Amino acid sequence: MKEKISIIVPCYNETEGIQKFYSEAIKTINKITDKYDYEILFINDGSSDNTFEKLKELKKMDDNIRIISFSRNFGKEAAMYAGLENFVGEYVVIIDADLQNDPVIMLEMIKGIEENYDIVTTCRKDRKGEAPIKNIFAKIFYQIMGNVGAVKIRQGAQDYRMMTRQVAESILSLKEYNRFSKGIFNWVGFNVKYLEVENKPRIAGKSKWNLKKLFAYAIDGITSFTTAPLKLSIISGFVISVLSIIMGLEIVLQTIINGKDVPGYASTITAVLFIGGIQLISIGILSEYISKMYLEVKQRPKYIIKEKIDK
Ligand code: UDP
Ligand code: MG
Repeated sequence: MKEKISIIVPCYNETEGIQKFYSEAIKTINKITDKYDYEILFINDGSSDNTFEKLKELKKMDDNIRIISFSRNFGKEAAMYAGLENFVGEYVVIIDADLQNDPVIMLEMIKGIEENYDIVTTCRKDRKGEAPIKNIFAKIFYQIMGNVGAVKIRQGAQDYRMMTRQVAESILSLKEYNRFSKGIFNWVGFNVKYLEVENKPRIAGKSKWNLKKLFAYAIDGITSFTTAPLKLSIISGFVISVLSIIMGLEIVLQTIINGKDVPGYASTITAVLFIGGIQLISIGILSEYISKMYLEVKQRPKYIIKEKIDK
């Protein structure tokens, strides 16, 4: 019996590129079929275009394709989770549908797995072709994530990776609703091999990311993996208290020595606004965590399947 490699492909509005993706992917897959069986598990994440129809056409040509179609768009994290819950192979690969992840690299991933690594993951060598402002934010984000000791994420690490069933199952055992996969993939541990890859542009369609979404994603990542921001309010509270004691003493001394009041409007208003600002920020940070807890407590499903095409 040959071992099976399952390839999970999250798809959201990928009509234009999906056929091209399949024909590229199958070229690589054909090189491994003497040694491995394969399945391609497309997750149609509530596409509003013809992606689902296109997938069904592909399925007619290739029996090793399976399709899971969501009832609406749940996001790539949910699509990956559904893939991991439903794949049948001994190994699993997660790959984007837009050919930004070159299928050929799967050959190297398989080599890594054969060398007994548990996870082989890709990492962008550079961020060529990305907006500079995005790159700056990305850098700051990785720095913060690394420094607050939440979980070390390698710069440029992508979701494109291959892993054993054991790793996949441990990822599934983290049941949280707010899934920050970049962190979760690292959190579970195991032996990881990194492959450096070139950054490639999309073949068709649009990226679903913009600066606003990326920013929200970064905040999500940080608050999912560390409670360090909560300590910020304690620290700033402490610092401000000390400063205000010093300032109070100064005013007392000034009055005793010089015998006159310190003129007050500017300093008073600055202090009031400053402390108000700090308080609002602290409440904001708190609510970020509370809203996370709110979503977790509800225990909603991460996705809802409308249709499954297995046979
Ligand atoms: N994707 C998805 N659901 C979403 C958004 C994206 O399944 O809500 C899929 C998308 O079809 C693609 C992959 O996730 O296969 C990566 O998405 P995208 O190319 O938009 O992200 P980027 O490559 O810009 O990070
Ligand atoms: Mg992409």
